[in-house]
Amino acid sequence: MKLSLFLRISNSLLAIILLASCSGNNSATDIPATFTVPAIYNKIYGATSITNDGTYITIKSTGQPDHKSVYYPTANALYEAFSGTTFGGNTFAKNPNSISAQTYTFKIPVNPKVNSNHAATPLGPIGISLNGVPFFNQYAGPNQPLTGEVVSFDKYYGHPAPGGVYHYHVEPLYLTTVKATKSSLLGFLLDGFPVYGPEENGSAVTNAMLDAYHGHTGVTSDYPNGIYHYHINSTDPYINGSGFYGTAGTVSK
Ligand SMILES: [Zn+2]
Ligand SMILES: [Zn+2]
Repeated sequence: MKLSLFLRISNSLLAIILLASCSGNNSATDIPATFTVPAIYNKIYGATSITNDGTYITIKSTGQPDHKSVYYPTANALYEAFSGTTFGGNTFAKNPNSISAQTYTFKIPVNPKVNSNHAATPLGPIGISLNGVPFFNQYAGPNQPLTGEVVSFDKYYGHPAPGGVYHYHVEPLYLTTVKATKSSLLGFLLDGFPVYGPEENGSAVTNAMLDAYHGHTGVTSDYPNGIYHYHINSTDPYINGSGFYGTAGTVSK
């Protein structure tokens, strides 16, 4: 392209851009508003980005654990052989999948709200944990209990599905024993309500202390005014029971 032609084209482009940005009084509304991300979401240290549009917190993640796993390809620095006992005292039996990077976008309501429909959780990701690994529900498939699957949980109680989709159905041991504690915030479900570990105020949280959705309302260290929150414990349904307490956001990959 000749320089003069290039200049003419770039000048007319500039004119169009200037025109577009000056036309009308509502140009400011074309720019999406951005809001500060509340500090609580920065606890999701495994996220690749976290933004807030005022309605949803958008969290992107590769879903790969930051801890060692027998499910990483052997060439990966985080590969570690594993044998012996896993969740529930079962003898570990490796499944054929290996961990690979995903491109998750979680959109969770910044102001979670109860929804009396309590929609059932889907198979696949139902929330995100602090290290960016998704939470899955208590089923291995449509209405299939996890009983046949728990044997394949690695030393930190996660495992990959076909496609390398690593996930936690139960307590993520690396978070509750290394990165945080048994009573810490561990992540959020898609409805925006927080997920806590298996202990509260120094004692174990049993299913009898929780509602049908595996949560209850109360004060937590992160929410001094109280909030509905889920608890992960070692009893089925582990993370979530009969559905979301609130209106779920979305997850795509
Ligand atoms: Zn699974
Ligand atoms: Zn609680």
